[in-house]
Amino acid sequence: MSAEWEGVRWDGVGSAAVAVRIDIEAFGEAIRPATREAASALRRAGAVSGLEEAGGGAQAVVRDGARILQPWIGIVDGAFTGECECRGDGGLCAHAVAVALAAFDDDLRWSGAAVPPSAAEVPSERLRYAAAVERLAPRQLAALVVDQAADDRLFATVLLRTAGMLDAADHEDAQRRLRVLVETSAVVTRGPYWEISHVEEAGLRLAAEATVLCELPATTEALDLVERAILVWDGLAGHLIDAHEVRGVDPEEVGNPLVEAYIDLFEQLDPDPAELSQRLSQLADKCPNGTVDLDVL
Ligand SMILES: [Zn+2]
Repeated sequence: MSAEWEGVRWDGVGSAAVAVRIDIEAFGEAIRPATREAASALRRAGAVSGLEEAGGGAQAVVRDGARILQPWIGIVDGAFTGECECRGDGGLCAHAVAVALAAFDDDLRWSGAAVPPSAAEVPSERLRYAAAVERLAPRQLAALVVDQAADDRLFATVLLRTAGMLDAADHEDAQRRLRVLVETSAVVTRGPYWEISHVEEAGLRLAAEATVLCELPATTEALDLVERAILVWDGLAGHLIDAHEVRGVDPEEVGNPLVEAYIDLFEQLDPDPAELSQRLSQLADKCPNGTVDLDVL
């Protein structure tokens, strides 16, 4: 369902892809009063969550009674355009307007040439998966998701985060797991009976657990743990470099996700790029085997 509202104020001339300033008052006046009131009521009820930029516009999850929708709203061809699963009656629906109001409050940047979800180019593989999802009964879909979550910690964490269900225990659990892995990895090559596959296995588990930790709200403890994981891995990576003819895992297959996790957590805690590059160069100095490669970053 698409609906349009004319009357966006443009920030000067030039490319339509530039961010535009919205006349919020004019937007409110152009919406039908009943829709405006319904949208405001949704916001007052705390029904709008998970607001994010999407395709140059905004989307969020809106709970309207028993229905859970994910409307999108953006500026297409100079006019506000909404798409919503409610398939409303032609105008912008209250759900899309509620998302717009939340986006105004959040100072979200609007592109002057947004791409609505229905017009976005989707790789054919994803279209096929989406078609499969539409053919499933909700109970079948739920069972598949639950099975996948039980098998895959990263998927489970993303699922819980998306549903707003992560709690302190999840956080402690993820940190404890990474701490144990860092400690056991640090000693994997001690003693006479270790093989290169043990190093590879330890590295892949470190990378996987650090990636899970990134899905949780960042803390300094998590950042410190990932830093320790990088240092331990850099030590182990020396063995993989020596074993380049027989190894099945390249050092960067572990090092890159660890460094990405570090950067991700750091940026959440401290968005200053100068601070980050300083910390990375200090870390690089402590990594003789090149796990933190400033030339690549
Ligand atoms: Zn709607």
